[in-house]
Formats: sequence, C-alpha cells, structure tokens
Amino acid sequence: ALDGAWARRWIEAVAERVAARKAELTALDRAIGDADHGENLDRGFQAVLGRLDGLDADATPGAVLKLVATTLISTVGGAAGPLYGTAFLKAAMASGDRAELDAPALVEVLTAARDGIVARGKAELRDKTMVDAWSPAVDAAATAGDDVRAVLEAAAAAAAEGAVATEPLVAHKGRASYLGERAIGHRDPGAESTSLILRAAAETA
Ligand code: ADP
Ligand code: MG
Ligand code: MG
Repeated sequence: ALDGAWARRWIEAVAERVAARKAELTALDRAIGDADHGENLDRGFQAVLGRLDGLDADATPGAVLKLVATTLISTVGGAAGPLYGTAFLKAAMASGDRAELDAPALVEVLTAARDGIVARGKAELRDKTMVDAWSPAVDAAATAGDDVRAVLEAAAAAAAEGAVATEPLVAHKGRASYLGERAIGHRDPGAESTSLILRAAAETA
C-alpha cells in the first residue's frame, strides 16, 4: 500500500539515486545550463534524509511530502528548488491526512504536483523543461487503472519518454532558453531528474 512507510522508502531511494547520478545530472546541466542541477538536488535530498529521522514512525504520506517540500525550498535554490518545492507542497496538500493513497488519490497527488510546477514556472509542454516529463506522466497515470503500482509504473515510463523527447527541442524557459538552437540535441536536466523521481516511486511501491 502507498502508506507513509512507502513515502519514506520512495524519498530515501530518490536521495540514493540522485547521489549516484549527481555527476550525470550536472553534466546535462553543463551542456545547456550552469552545471549545478545534480549538486542542487543532492544537497536538497541529503538534507531531507537528515530530517526524515525526526518524523513520527506513523507519519502519513502527506507529512513526508510536506517535509520534502519545506526542505527542498530552503536548501536547493535556483530554478529547481522552488519548482520541486512547490510540486511536493501541492502533492502534500492533495494527499491531506490520508493514511494511504489509493489510485484515484495518487492521480490527484501527481496532478497537483504537476499543476504546482506549471503555476510557478509558467512553462508549457515542449518548452524543454521538467513539465515535459511531468505532464505525460500525469496523463498516463490518469488512464492506468485502479492498481497503484500500475499507475506509478505508467507515470515513470511516460516521464522517461518525456525526458528523452526534450532532446530535439529548443528551450523556452529557464537558462537553456538563452541558448536558442544550441540547446538542440541535449536532454533537459530537470526532465531527467523528474524521470528519476517517478521511477523511484514505482520501484519502491
Ligand atoms: P538553475 O537553472 O537555477 O541552475 P537547476 O539547474 O537546478 O536550476 O534546474 C534546472 C531545471 O529547472 C531545468 O532543466 C528545467 O527542467 C527546470 N526549469 C527551469 N525553469 C523552469 C520553468 N520556468 N518551468 C519548469 N521548469 C523549469
Ligand atoms: Mg542549473
Ligand atoms: Mg544554478
């Protein structure tokens, strides 16, 4: 079940995978940004790990998501900090005080996260941002049926495809937008980290 213990496993897996792929995420950002995306997220998720211990053993998914949000907002900075911070905050609000997320609740949570990013960053689909991973993930989740693991698997698969699909695009938001056509051929780092986050969600469910 997608309970508070799952939310913890998920976030611990994200922290582990971000640490393992820090250089790779930063290399993506070196090509079309300022070479800090891996470091930014690693700093944030290591801080989250340090604070997870302070949560009650029976913390709800919403409480875990809220802790992630406040920690990322205060430690990540740049574009990704407020964007992921907003995503996790809206996800926490959608999760509410439920002890477990069923499939419809999970879709609401993922939708709230995506909508939060769009409201904050104003990126549209195909602007070559993390929205290009989040939006197809939410669409796939919404039509994946009633099994939470199938919903997360569909979201993760769609996010991975969405991240790859940023490669041929010119960017219209964020630092990569300063590069014009020179951004073509490079994957958006935030779309790739979104894929990592949703893959970890599926694999810990
Ligand atoms: P910074 O660009 O401040 O160094 P990061 O490198 O941590 O921040 O994050 C860059 C990522 O943030 C980009 O790859 C992109 O996915 C995402 N991003 C930037 N601006 C926006 C925006 N307006 N809307 C959605 N995502 C954005
Ligand atoms: Mg950067
Ligand atoms: Mg930066």
